Amino acid sequence: MSKKVGIVGVGNVGASLAFSLAIKGTCKQIVLKDLRENVVQAMALDIAQAASVSNSKTLISVEKEDFKNCDVIVITAGLPRKPGMSRDDLLLTNAKIMKSVFEDIQEDNPNAIYIIVSNPLDAMVYTALKVSKLPKNRILGMAGILDSARMEYFIREKLGYGEGEIDAKVMGGHGDDMVPLPSYTTVQGKKLTEILSKEEIDQIVEKTKHGGAQIVKLLGNGSAYYAPAFSTSLMVEAILNDSKKVYPSAVLLEGEYGYKDIVAGVLVKIGKNGAEEILELEINEQRQKEFAHSVSSVKELVETLNSKFFV
Ligand code: NAD
Repeated sequence: MSKKVGIVGVGNVGASLAFSLAIKGTCKQIVLKDLRENVVQAMALDIAQAASVSNSKTLISVEKEDFKNCDVIVITAGLPRKPGMSRDDLLLTNAKIMKSVFEDIQEDNPNAIYIIVSNPLDAMVYTALKVSKLPKNRILGMAGILDSARMEYFIREKLGYGEGEIDAKVMGGHGDDMVPLPSYTTVQGKKLTEILSKEEIDQIVEKTKHGGAQIVKLLGNGSAYYAPAFSTSLMVEAILNDSKKVYPSAVLLEGEYGYKDIVAGVLVKIGKNGAEEILELEINEQRQKEFAHSVSSVKELVETLNSKFFV
C-alpha cells in the first residue's frame, strides 16, 4: 500500500479508474493531471470523499509537484474523433498529445511503468515507446482485458453462468479486427468450443467485436468508461502487487508470433517490471490469418506515424 499511481487525462476513463483504485485502497496516493484544472480538482475532491466513506486510506492529489516518482502511470489523455476529422487526423492529434505528456512527466518519474489507454490504442503504445525510448517492458496498453470481459459477458448472457466461471481470451489489435479465441475460452474449465455450436460462437465473437461500438452508439457522445477503467485497475494492481498475473495486453512484439517492431495484444505476464513475459499461444491457421489482418491494420497506422509524425 506504499505506492503511487499517476493518471494523466481525468475524463470519463481516468476519473472512473481513480475512483476504482481509491475505494479499493489499491495504493497510498493517486495523483491526477489534466488540462481542465477545475474539473480535475472537483474530481479529486469527489473521489477523496468517496474513499473516505469507504474507509480507504488512499490520498488523492492534483498538485503538480506530487506528480513525481510514481510507480505506475496511466495515460488516458486524448481527444475523441470529431465530425470532419479523419482517422489519420485523430491519430496524429493524439500522438502529439502522447508526446507532450511524456515530455511533461517522464523525467520526474524515472521508474514508472506506463499503461496506455488512449486510442488508437496500439498506435499510441507504439508512439509512447518511440517518444520515451523506454524499454518495451515499461509500456503496456490496456484493451485485451476489456475485450475479453466483453466476450465473457456475452457468453454469460447466453449460458447464464455466474461470475468467475467464464474465462475468455482475446488477442490482436484493439479494433473491429481483434481476435477472440474461442478455443482458449473456458466455461467452468470446459472449452467453449465443446459447449456451443460454431454458429453460436460466431455470434458471440461478432458481439464482442462490436461491443465498444454498441456503447458508443447508445451514448451518442463518448465511449465506454466503467469497464475500461476497471480493466485498467487490474493491470495497475498486477504491477503494484507484483502478482505475475497473465492478462492480454498491447506490447511491442519482437519476433513473437513472427512479428517485429509492431504493437499488438498478446498474453503478457505482468509484475513489478511491467510486461515481464509474453506468452505465445498455439493458434490455428484461421486465427493466424485473423491475427495477421489485425496486425496489418496496426501497421497502417504505424506507417502513417512514421511518415508524418516521426520525421
Ligand atoms: P474523455 O474525453 O472523457 O477524457 C480525456 C481527457 O484527456 C479529458 O479530460 C482531456 O481534458 C484530457 N486531456 C487531453 N489532452 C491532455 C493533455 N495533453 N494532458 C492532460 N490531459 C489531457 O475521454 P475518455 O472517455 O476518458 O477516453 C480517454 C481515451 O481512452 C480516449 O482516447 C478513448 O478513445 C480511450 N479509450 C480506450 C479504451 C481501451 O480499451 N483502450 C477504452 C475506452 C476509452
